Amino acid sequence: INVLAVESSCDETAAAVVHNGREVLSNVISSQIDLHKLYGGVVPEIASRKHIEKINQVIEEALKEAHVTLDDIDVIGVTYGPGLVGALLVGVAEAKAIAYARNLPLVGVHHIEGHISANYIEHPELEPPFFCLVVSGGHTHLVRVKDYGVYEILGRTRDDAAGEAYDKVARAIGLGYPGGPKIDRLAKEGNPEAVRFPKAHMEDAPYDFSFSGLKSAVLNYINGCKMKGETYDPADIAASFQKAVVDVLVEKAMCAAEEFGIYKFAIAGGVASNSALRVGMEAACKERGIQFYYPSPVLCTDNAAMIGAAAYYEYLAGTRHGWDLNAVPNLKLGER
Ligand code: ATP
Ligand code: MG
Ligand code: FE
Repeated sequence: INVLAVESSCDETAAAVVHNGREVLSNVISSQIDLHKLYGGVVPEIASRKHIEKINQVIEEALKEAHVTLDDIDVIGVTYGPGLVGALLVGVAEAKAIAYARNLPLVGVHHIEGHISANYIEHPELEPPFFCLVVSGGHTHLVRVKDYGVYEILGRTRDDAAGEAYDKVARAIGLGYPGGPKIDRLAKEGNPEAVRFPKAHMEDAPYDFSFSGLKSAVLNYINGCKMKGETYDPADIAASFQKAVVDVLVEKAMCAAEEFGIYKFAIAGGVASNSALRVGMEAACKERGIQFYYPSPVLCTDNAAMIGAAAYYEYLAGTRHGWDLNAVPNLKLGER
């Protein structure tokens, strides 16, 4: 089964051809980062307009790179939520048009299900059940993957997502957008013990996260230094902030693994490419005899190959969407 997958939920216009859910024949990503950088973040109207300009070309490239034509495609997969409504609509309309014109089954995919499924591509042997820590620009979820397409969310962020906190702290120390990879790099030159930032723990919900307090603490620290006329080392701030984030993520992940007796743990989403998180998770998993899985960086951030993997398993499970498929900006994981 060949899936042609389309992803346009945020600021990447992407298309991919994926064979049997795990083999990537092509993975084309047109990023709008340079455009949005000027504004310090993603501007929804600009994103939608750019998707419209790029989408046909990106799909053509994906087919060409895979050395296939639409005749070789069996299923059209597309992200229909969550994300920016105007951005999602471009991919959904395009996918519907192709599926209708070619009389192909249409499978709408949840963007986070896509992020989780990136692990199937990277690790051909990985099968549910397993745990997945989803850390992206808009989500921080601790998910129990019970079966293909069957998810239980054990915990989530109460406020900012992990990636969002990275981006906001990066802006405060003048690193620009998107901040995650830049903090990751700068932190390598700093001392993670330089500043002790707070870590949020919720008594009533041990697997929920909160990053806005940490973010505020970093901003307050920087402002405090400025007011007192003291200098601070951005590398130390980056390293200390990153340590606070990674410590909490690893701690809660391992707590869940122990409670549920899980021996397979994956990470997914843009922040899953963070080097400190990988090292921290790897060590913690090794200590407990847990198998640790993570996708390569290009499969961590937004791409259509992960949507193709997710669409394949949804297709096998019988998921089909009609011509009335709409963009659902706040789609919940596990909803159809
Ligand atoms: P969502 O998937 O929740 O809808 P999104 O699609 O915008 O949000 P992703 O593309 O999954 O998010 O990830 C982008 C986020 O990952 C950004 O916040 C970015 O700063 C962060 N990120 C990317 N690389 C790294 C890194 N090496 N370290 C930390 N954060 C990173
Ligand atoms: Mg993006
Ligand atoms: Fe994403």
